[in-house]
Amino acid sequence: MTRSVLSVASETVPLVKTGGLADVVGALPGALAPHDVAVTTMVPGYPAVLRALVDGMVIHVYPSLMGAPARLVAGTVAGLPLIALDAPDLFSRDGGPYAGPQGYDWDDNWRRFAALSRAAADLAGGGTRYPPFDVLHAHDWQAGLAPAYLRFAPPRRAPAPARVTTIHNMAFQGRFGADIFPQLGLPDRAWAIDGVEYYGGTGYLKAGLEASDAITTVSPSYAAEITDPRFGMGLEGVILAHQDRVHGILNGIDGTLWNPETDAHLPARFSARTLARRIENKRALETEFGLVTDHGPLFVVVTRLTWQKGMDALLEVVDHLVGAGGRLALLGAGDAGIEAGFRAAAARHPGRVGVRFGYDEALSHRMQGGGDALLIPSRFEPCGLTQLYALAYGCVPVVARTGGLADTVIDANVAALAADVATGVQFDGVGYHPLRIAINRTLALHRQPELWRRIQRNSMKCDFTWARSGRAYADLYAKLAP
Ligand code: ADP
Repeated sequence: MTRSVLSVASETVPLVKTGGLADVVGALPGALAPHDVAVTTMVPGYPAVLRALVDGMVIHVYPSLMGAPARLVAGTVAGLPLIALDAPDLFSRDGGPYAGPQGYDWDDNWRRFAALSRAAADLAGGGTRYPPFDVLHAHDWQAGLAPAYLRFAPPRRAPAPARVTTIHNMAFQGRFGADIFPQLGLPDRAWAIDGVEYYGGTGYLKAGLEASDAITTVSPSYAAEITDPRFGMGLEGVILAHQDRVHGILNGIDGTLWNPETDAHLPARFSARTLARRIENKRALETEFGLVTDHGPLFVVVTRLTWQKGMDALLEVVDHLVGAGGRLALLGAGDAGIEAGFRAAAARHPGRVGVRFGYDEALSHRMQGGGDALLIPSRFEPCGLTQLYALAYGCVPVVARTGGLADTVIDANVAALAADVATGVQFDGVGYHPLRIAINRTLALHRQPELWRRIQRNSMKCDFTWARSGRAYADLYAKLAP
């Protein structure tokens, strides 16, 4: 029997992406198809989504959804089923999915994502003329109210679908005031400590966690970490109370988009057997970033420029990295202060530090294919995708030992080197000293070319494609919706 899943999120590749969430949502349908699970993705009808939707058919009309006229439009994108919530008052705007062109969050985000969630609950629970789904799978706070609507205000009396919420990043919780509650269309009993109430306000992610049959997060280590206040960020109590429902399922990478043997973005394609070809990519990258050529390692960084990603700590150690013989190429978007810091570092170290600000998918591929080592000093990292791309591309990941980074990179310590299983470098704690030591260790490994190549080959052998994780989600759905 084919199981049907409605996967609801605020972003998905290739249409709207601000981070790893979009990669995962975009990959799920393909990852689940071999397991007889049909995943339909539902996202807000941003202009880019509506433009891309092929054979769009209106399947439901709301004269007023959270105060805005709206319709559900079903079609396909890149051959995969996709349903958009077309509500121009809510989603047809310039700027990003959450913020306006100036970078400030929209002040009606509570309404925009309550509307998405209400519509998802209607769709999954059989409240439209579309066939109901076996499972509603909500991603992050933007879809958090969907399970809560199914729990407290289902569209009909028929058996409700199973409910799953995935936490892609606990730092984003969708916290709003208590004043919005009466406008959500939930019954009074939903305003409870095991409902949507969260420290006196309204908590969207919290509501989803409380209303779900299963809670997943994107790595086993992060699943454990979020029971601690430093990572749970207020929701650790909810996680602890529902430990038996919490699962850590690693994200995978899309091997059709991220494969160094076929990647059209790379000047030279290569495999573990033809690693020598990587040098062509490295030289091209040096030219692109205006860097000198020498025998030292080229460190690369592809990231959001935020505190979470430890970019402030990296800034402190840039001078050491250069002084010790490394070079740095950074691609990042985000915090203006961090951006200014890296601009200054590049000015201080012409030819040795190169920076690009903004979002550039093609360049991110070239950096993975040409860099020697990818630096990821994250303070927390639910899963992390860039280290998985780095592993696949022989760009040795140098990572903080946290969350999915801890789970996917094998530190080149003495035992791992002796067993020939090392795939990267890990360090504990994010700050000047741990980073300095990690950079020194990386430089020392890089000075031993044969050893370095072994680490690269080990990493390229790792299989972090979706096969294993797809099966884990399929097993979970089967348990919840037998
Ligand atoms: P997060 O979701 O916390 O940002 P992940 O490592 O899980 O971190 O996913 C980040 C995704 O976004 C990866 O696919 C990465 O390649 C991409 N990415 C991040 N910053 C940039 C950028 N400035 N340009 C291009 N791609 C980027």
